[in-house]
Amino acid sequence: MTPRVVFSPDYAVDYGGHSFAADKFRLAAEALKGAVELVAPAEPSRDDLLLAHDAAWTDKVLSSSLTEADLKRLELPFSPEISRAHRLAVGGTVLAARHALETGTGLHCGGGAHHAFRGHGEGYCALNDLAVAILKLRAEGRLSRAAVVDLDVHQGNGTAAIFSGDAAVFTFSMHQGDLYPEMKERSSLDVELRAGTGDAEYYDALRRSLRAVMDFKPDLVLYQAGADPWEKDRLGGLKLTEIGLLERDRAVRETCALHGVPVAVTLGGGYGPTPADTARLHARTLSLFAGQRV
Ligand SMILES: [Zn+2]
Repeated sequence: MTPRVVFSPDYAVDYGGHSFAADKFRLAAEALKGAVELVAPAEPSRDDLLLAHDAAWTDKVLSSSLTEADLKRLELPFSPEISRAHRLAVGGTVLAARHALETGTGLHCGGGAHHAFRGHGEGYCALNDLAVAILKLRAEGRLSRAAVVDLDVHQGNGTAAIFSGDAAVFTFSMHQGDLYPEMKERSSLDVELRAGTGDAEYYDALRRSLRAVMDFKPDLVLYQAGADPWEKDRLGGLKLTEIGLLERDRAVRETCALHGVPVAVTLGGGYGPTPADTARLHARTLSLFAGQRV
């Protein structure tokens, strides 16, 4: 069966030369074309968004009526078109999570907006697709326990805060300690790495941590596979090589497979020298999880 990858061409909105180049998702989908079936997500309902966000923030995003303070914290321009792209990305992770529960693997060429909190957006993330997907499938009775494996170079602070006190969700974030967000939230498991950490040390810490995630016995893992731990990333300071990033992805895939836990992949951050560089890394992550040669 041809692997399905969730993607919408409407993700590629123009942020006007911003370091968050949404074009990377379009380029990654382009690279996968032919080898996978691209599936378009549906927009989530307001009620879906309310599972993870409060009404005031949800309605601001839906009506694109962010205040100056909201925009400053989000660090992105905003418009009805951009609002739609962020909503579609939520629908995309929900759909990829459904695919994971059906077949063992779900692939989203987008998503991973882990800095979005219940009542505000920040760090380029308006809506927390990871949180909505878990809470939506749980509300439908399709899962009871879930884990988030967040390997973006930045801490998954929004996800950690949304699930704080929720005993049925395990949040794991491994990130560079001296980067944004300055004030870290508390995940179920946080591993802080020093700037300059390379492949070997990273891999050891990851294997140990994945064991703790599996001890939680989740029904589903949502993987935030940020490409920004790469040594050439403009925002990150870790020193993972391209091979190191692939070994990281393989460790997540193999661990989930060994334990029989379905996994849905989202892409998250990535700020390589060009959008094409980041897109290449994102496409490799998805190909690896699709069981293809990378
Ligand atoms: Zn990041």
